[in-house]
Amino acid sequence: MLTSADVKKMAKACGADLCGIASMDRFEGAPKQQDPRYIFPDSRACVVLAFRIPRGYLRGIEEGTYFTAYSAMGYGGLNIIYTPIVLRQLTCFIEDHGYESAPIPNMYPGATISFATQNVIPNRSRPVRSGLPMPDVMIDMRIAAYAAGLGEFGWSKMFLTPEFGPAQRFVALLTDAPLEPDPIFTGKICDRCKLCVKACSGNAISATETESITVAGHKQEWGKLDCTACSVAYRGGKAEYNPFMRPEANEAEYKDNYCGRPKLDEYCGYPKLFEHNAALEGARGCMRECLIHLEEKGILTRKFANKFRHRLPWRLDSKVEDVQNGETLSEIERYGKE
Ligand code: SF4
Repeated sequence: MLTSADVKKMAKACGADLCGIASMDRFEGAPKQQDPRYIFPDSRACVVLAFRIPRGYLRGIEEGTYFTAYSAMGYGGLNIIYTPIVLRQLTCFIEDHGYESAPIPNMYPGATISFATQNVIPNRSRPVRSGLPMPDVMIDMRIAAYAAGLGEFGWSKMFLTPEFGPAQRFVALLTDAPLEPDPIFTGKICDRCKLCVKACSGNAISATETESITVAGHKQEWGKLDCTACSVAYRGGKAEYNPFMRPEANEAEYKDNYCGRPKLDEYCGYPKLFEHNAALEGARGCMRECLIHLEEKGILTRKFANKFRHRLPWRLDSKVEDVQNGETLSEIERYGKE
């Protein structure tokens, strides 16, 4: 008999850092286009794997001198190369025990929900039977991670785990193996410091407005996210945080061409990686600032001998005091003025 403990042990042996298991009833109420039960109607469990983004992947962007590690390995490389390999190994392991395993990699090539805007993409596909959603159904990985007991939503809408804070990516699989689910996480990680709001170069996270969902009877709430602003900013849409933006480009043009369109290279000197747009902003607010804060507070179970940030964050052609909304970032108090 295949148990949850067997699956978790194998997941970690294959390279996952965390593994949680959700029962399928926890997806009750999910939008049709994101409901995993349409992908595998006879599934009994959703297994969610988390893969840490090592802190050192962010080092070069933090210093402003090396942007490739995070973009290549922490973003596209995890989603396109590493996690599908682990997912395949775990899928084969489960099927060797006589149960089917349907992998769901963290990719959106055919998805009918736009990764960038979270809106339905019109005319992408059509249902194969009446009553079914359009292919491709794409589950929300963060909701799956919550349903699998791995952590909670932060104010930034990033998913936070007690181990790695906001620094991980997720994949999932659906299986008809009758695996015991994990309890929903009831701890507290996000303390609503809102440093993510202040440090986001895209001004994409509201400080006051919220959005929420209820999963398995548990409410999760976060600051309202402007998905388009986030999507533009993470690809380097803000000139002051993108040293690859061509001097003759302006932000409005960059925004209009941000989505990997052919003209993008007229605006930015950095290429696409693994079909992903490079994540040139280095998750300035939602990951780096949050990570620094949670480490300083001693909230995370993964500890480092040395703190992450040693210098004032860089910003092109302006002073750090000018950061968004005329507000002063906490780094000024933390690290002193240059
Ligand atoms: S930076 Fe602060 S408010 Fe934002 S998600 Fe992290 S802990 Fe929560």
